[in-house]
Amino acid sequence: MLDIVLEEMKKNNIILEKWSRSSCGHACIGRKIKIPKPVDYDTLGVCFHEIGHIVLGHLDGENGKTRYVEEFEAEMFAIQKLHEYGYYNKKYELRAKSHVLFKIAQAKNRGHNMKKVPKEIVDWTRLQINKWNQAKRVFVYFGSRFNTEADVQKSIVLHSRK
Ligand SMILES: [Zn+2]
Repeated sequence: MLDIVLEEMKKNNIILEKWSRSSCGHACIGRKIKIPKPVDYDTLGVCFHEIGHIVLGHLDGENGKTRYVEEFEAEMFAIQKLHEYGYYNKKYELRAKSHVLFKIAQAKNRGHNMKKVPKEIVDWTRLQINKWNQAKRVFVYFGSRFNTEADVQKSIVLHSRK
């Protein structure tokens, strides 16, 4: 897996800032990334996600995209790459959905109207637009492991207006 990541980085002129000790990654200006050492589909997916942020130009300056849209695009890139190299696992995709929902919840809690969420993101995350708009605040607990779509939906907690 390591050779796959190094090859993708080389191909896209991406520099390793340093290896991450956790399973989280980060992409920075200057085409640098901090990624976990790829040892399974999960860490490999995180590597592709961060490479995706660079390849998709998310760090090239203001692009007018909402943060959750960028996260969605990076996850789509990662999932496509996992398929390409034969390491796709549904559990990665479920965690990716929860991650994007977490970012949508942050936007919602800052006053973002859920009707503005692009249809492909609504469909993929199964976002319940009206319920979210009616809620006062939304929390998504994305740290856990997901085995089914229902697990993803269960990680969403809506706090009602009262
Ligand atoms: Zn990201």
